[in-house]
Amino acid sequence: MKRLTALFMALFMGLMPGVRAEEAALTLTPAQDCWTAQLFAMDTFMQLTVYDPSLPQQDLAEVMDNVLRLEKLLSATEPTSEVSALNASWGAVQPVSSDTRTLLQTALAVSAETQGAFDVTAFPLVKAWGFTQSAYRVPQQDELTELLEQVDYRKVLISDEGVLLPEGMQIDLGGIGKGYTGDVVMQALREKGVTSALMSLGGNIAVLGRKTDGSLWKIAVRDPQDTTQNIGYVQVEETNVVTSGGYERYFEDEDGNIWWHIIDPETGYPARNGLLSVTVIGPGGARCDALSTALFVMGTDEAMAYLRGQTEVDAILIDETGRLIMTSGLRDRFTLMGANANREIVWIE
Ligand code: AMP
Ligand code: MG
Repeated sequence: MKRLTALFMALFMGLMPGVRAEEAALTLTPAQDCWTAQLFAMDTFMQLTVYDPSLPQQDLAEVMDNVLRLEKLLSATEPTSEVSALNASWGAVQPVSSDTRTLLQTALAVSAETQGAFDVTAFPLVKAWGFTQSAYRVPQQDELTELLEQVDYRKVLISDEGVLLPEGMQIDLGGIGKGYTGDVVMQALREKGVTSALMSLGGNIAVLGRKTDGSLWKIAVRDPQDTTQNIGYVQVEETNVVTSGGYERYFEDEDGNIWWHIIDPETGYPARNGLLSVTVIGPGGARCDALSTALFVMGTDEAMAYLRGQTEVDAILIDETGRLIMTSGLRDRFTLMGANANREIVWIE
C-alpha cells in the first residue's frame, strides 16, 4: 500500500508542473496529513514538514522564500550578500536590513555573554583554515597571530544608521544563521495559522507546537563518535534543538590530525577543549545556535559552569570519552537508545 502511495505521489508530482516552485532547488510535496518542503540552502539540506494539508501550496512556497531571502543576505561567501558588503565596508557605516541587524545584535549579545567564545568576527580565522572554500590547510602560527588582531566582537558598532567594522574585520553568521532561519520560518508558519511543524536545517531542528496527536516530538541526538548512530532522543514541544559537532565539517592533515570548523577565537585553532558535540534546547533558535557553538568552544568545564548559572536552555554535552553531561531539566525528557542504554550520564544540577 505504501509503495502504491509513493508511486501515486510520483505520478501526481510528474503531472503537476506547479508542484515545483520557481526555485529549482525547492520541492513541495503534498501528502495525506502534511506538506513537505525540501531545499538545499546555506550549504545544508533543509526539510520542513508542515502538519496542515489544507495549507495552500502558495503559502508554503512563501514561507520557504524566507530561506532564500536570508541566504542572499547572510552568506559570507556570496559576493553580492549584505554580509559581504559589510565585510568590505571597513571604516564606513554600512546600512543593513532589519534581519541582519537583529541577527547581529543577537550574535553580539551571545558573544558578550560567553566572553567571546562565540565571536561573530572569527571569519578571518575560519577562512585561513580553508573552511569557507573547502580548500583546507593548516595555517602557520604567525599567520594566526596576525589574524587574531582582527578578531574582537567588541569592536563591531551598531547604530541607527548601520554597522561599523574597523579595518580588517570580517563577520560570519555561519554559527547562528541557520538558527535564525528556523525562527523566521516558524514565525511565518504561525502567521499562516499553522500549529504543528518540524524543520530540520543540518544540525538544527525547530519544532512548532506538538505533533497533531498531541504527543511530544522525539528528536534524536547523534553519537559524535559514530555519526551513523543515535545516542538517544529528547521529547520536546515548541522549541529548538541545535547541535554543534566537530564531525559536521573537518579535515585530516598530512600528519593525521583532525581539524574541525569550530574555531577557538582565543587561539585561532579549532576548539579542542574536551567536547565532541553540544546540543542546546530552548527558545530562540538563533540564540541556541550561537550558544551551541560557544559551549563547544568553552569546553567541558567552562560549559558546565555556564549551564549551571542559567535556566533558560537545556543542553547535552558529549565529551571525548563518550560521557554525556546534561542539564537536569532533561531528566524526564531524555532517553538513551539501544546499545547506549548503559552510557554514563553526569547531571548538571
Ligand atoms: P555551528 O555549526 O553552528 O557550531 O557553527 C559553525 C560555524 O560558525 C563555522 O562553520 C564558522 O562559519 C563559524 N564559527 C566557527 N567558530 C566560531 C566561533 N568561535 N564563533 C562564531 N562563529 C564561529
Ligand atoms: Mg551554532
